[in-house]
Amino acid sequence: MTNEQAKLKQRLLRMSTKDPETKCWVWSGYTNKKGYGQIKVKYKVKYAHRVSYEIHVNPIKGIAVIHHKCSNRSCINPKHLKQVSIQENNVEMLQRVSFKKEILELKKEVELMQLKLKECQDYYEATQSL
Ligand SMILES: [Zn+2]
Repeated sequence: MTNEQAKLKQRLLRMSTKDPETKCWVWSGYTNKKGYGQIKVKYKVKYAHRVSYEIHVNPIKGIAVIHHKCSNRSCINPKHLKQVSIQENNVEMLQRVSFKKEILELKKEVELMQLKLKECQDYYEATQSL
């Protein structure tokens, strides 16, 4: 590790707080609108989690995506980060989209069932008082 990398590593540690429960290293520096931590390296703004991954684990291959296994976008704990190819990331995103669709459909179904339940209850109550 070069001197420069060692300094960057220290910066990353200084600018994050370790959550004892989730083990996330929560970025305390600047985060963008989407909640990703950002850090300036040699006058360039970079994603803190990507920099952390490169310093602690491996150089990132090409345009690979660094995925948060903990779903915490501001986390820079290298143990919570996983390098995935764009394809893998897309598959995961598509899965998430289809789950979302499924959730919406199930919610509609639940609403219908609740309506039906109400109808049944009303009917039952109406016949009870006869
Ligand atoms: Zn994490």
